Amino acid sequence: HPVIVWFRRDLRLSDNPALSEAVKTGKPVIAVYVMETDVARELGGASKWWLHHSLTKLSHALDAIGSKLILRRGKAGEILDDIINQSAADMVMWNRRYAGDARERDAAIKSTLKDRDLTVKSYRANLLSEPWSVETKSGGYYKVFTPYWRAAKDFIDVSDPIPAPTSVNHYGGGIKTDTLDDWTLLPTKPDWGEKLAPHWSIGPEGAHKALESFLDGPVENYADDRNRPDYEDGTSRLSPHLANGEISPREIWHACKDNEYTSRKFLTEIGWREFSYVLLFHHPDLASANYKDDFDKFPWESNQDALKAWQHGKTGYPFVDAGMRQLWQTGWQHNRVRMVTASFLIKHLLIDWREGEKWFHDTLVDADPASNAASWQWVAGSGADASPYFRIFNPFTQGEKFDPNGDYVRKYVPEIAKLPKKYIHRPWEAPQNVLDYAGVKLGKTYPKPIVEHKPARERALAAYKESRS
Ligand code: FAD
Repeated sequence: HPVIVWFRRDLRLSDNPALSEAVKTGKPVIAVYVMETDVARELGGASKWWLHHSLTKLSHALDAIGSKLILRRGKAGEILDDIINQSAADMVMWNRRYAGDARERDAAIKSTLKDRDLTVKSYRANLLSEPWSVETKSGGYYKVFTPYWRAAKDFIDVSDPIPAPTSVNHYGGGIKTDTLDDWTLLPTKPDWGEKLAPHWSIGPEGAHKALESFLDGPVENYADDRNRPDYEDGTSRLSPHLANGEISPREIWHACKDNEYTSRKFLTEIGWREFSYVLLFHHPDLASANYKDDFDKFPWESNQDALKAWQHGKTGYPFVDAGMRQLWQTGWQHNRVRMVTASFLIKHLLIDWREGEKWFHDTLVDADPASNAASWQWVAGSGADASPYFRIFNPFTQGEKFDPNGDYVRKYVPEIAKLPKKYIHRPWEAPQNVLDYAGVKLGKTYPKPIVEHKPARERALAAYKESRS
C-alpha cells in the first residue's frame, strides 16, 4: 500500500517532515499537489505566477530523486479519494497550514479518511512553533509582540533541519495528472510575469542562495539598513520563498546559529511572521474584520479615483509612488515603504485598509494570509499591538529620511529623476526654473499631490475622533 504526500505551500524537499516521514515508511510514495477549487480566497495573480514556477522546480526536484509530482485540480477531499481508490494507498501525510478555511478542510478530510481506516499524519513545517503553543500565564495567547517573542523563545523548535531525501520508492502505478499549463497560472495578455522574472530566482535553490548572500554581509548592518529601500540588499528578500515554503524558518534559524548576536534583529522579524500566524490562528477573519471592533464605525471614504491613483503609483508623492510601482514591477515592496504606502491609503485617503490588503494580496509575490492581514491592521491601528492610529506617516519626510539621495524614487519614478535631491521628495515645492530644467511639468508629466498633507492629516484625525464618539 502506497503513502500519499500532499504538498501545499511547502514546496521543498529539505526540512519537509511529511515527505521525509513518508519516505521513512519504505512504502511507495505518491507526491501530489492539488490546485484547490473550494477555497475561501483565490491566490492573487502574482502568487499564481510564482506558484507555477515553484511547482516546476518541485517537480524537477522530485524527478531527480526518482519520484514524480502528480498535479490535480478540484476539491482536495475528492481528489485524494480518487487517488486512494486507484492506488489502494493507506496513508496520507501533509504539513499543517493555518488559514481558517484551509484548517477546516484539512480537519474534515482527516476525519473522513480516518473513518475509512487510513492513517493520516500532519506535521509542523512552516513555523517554528504552533500558533496555539505559546500561552500567557493566565492561559490566553499573547496580543503584544515583545512579550510574545520573549515567551516564544522557550517553545520554538530550533532543532536541526531534516535533510532532503536522496531517493524515493516511487509508486509506479500510473496516476492521472494534469500539466501545469492546464492550470493557466501564468499571465498572458499582457505577460507581466516577464517583468517580474529577472528579480527572482524561484525555488529552494534560489532561496538558499538568497539566505547565504544575506548572511555573507548584509546581516551585519541589518538593524539600520533594513529601513533603506535605496539599498538593494538591505534585507534578505526571503519573503516569497517563505510564503511558498521553499525554505523553512528552521533552516533560516539554523543558518544563523553561529552568529546569533549579529542575526538577532533579523530573527526577530521571523518572530513577527510567527506572531502574525498566532493572530491569524485566533482570528481566522483577520483579512476581513477589524481585530479591534471599535474600528467598525470608522467613516471610510469610497473614492475609486484615489484608490486607482494609489494602485498605479500616481499620488503625486514620489516615495509612495515609487513603492507602488516597485510592487507592480517586481511583485515586492520594501517593508519601510509598505508602512508608508499603507498609511497613505488608510489615513491620507481615508480608504478602508481592506482595499489595500486586497491589492497587496493580488500583486505581492510574498502575499501571505497572516503577515499581510496582520500588517495592514497594524498600520490601520485596528490590529493587535498596532501602531496607534494617530501615528500618521509623513509621505515626504519619510522619503527624505530613508531615501536621502532620492535614488529609490529616481529608479521607479523616472519622469522626475532629474530633480535635485532637495526637491525629489517634494516636487511641488520646486521653483519653476528647477522643474523646467528637470523636464517636469507638474500635473502633466507627473501628478500634483492628490491630497495636501496637512489637511489630509487633520481630516484623518477628525475621522478617528468621530469613530470613537
Ligand atoms: P527581511 O527584513 O529580510 O525579513 C526576513 C523575514 O521576516 C521576511 O522574509 C518575512 O518572512 C519576515 N518578516 C519581516 N518583517 C515582517 C513583518 N513586519 N511581519 C511579518 N513578517 C515579517 N510580509 C509577507 O511575508 N507577506 C505579506 O503579504 C506582507 N504584507 C505586508 C503588508 C504591509 C502593509 C506591511 C507593512 C508589511 C507586510 N509584510 C508582509 C511584512 C514585510 O514587509 C515583509 O515580510 C518584508 O518586507 C519582506 O522582505 P524581506 O524578506 O527582505 O524581509
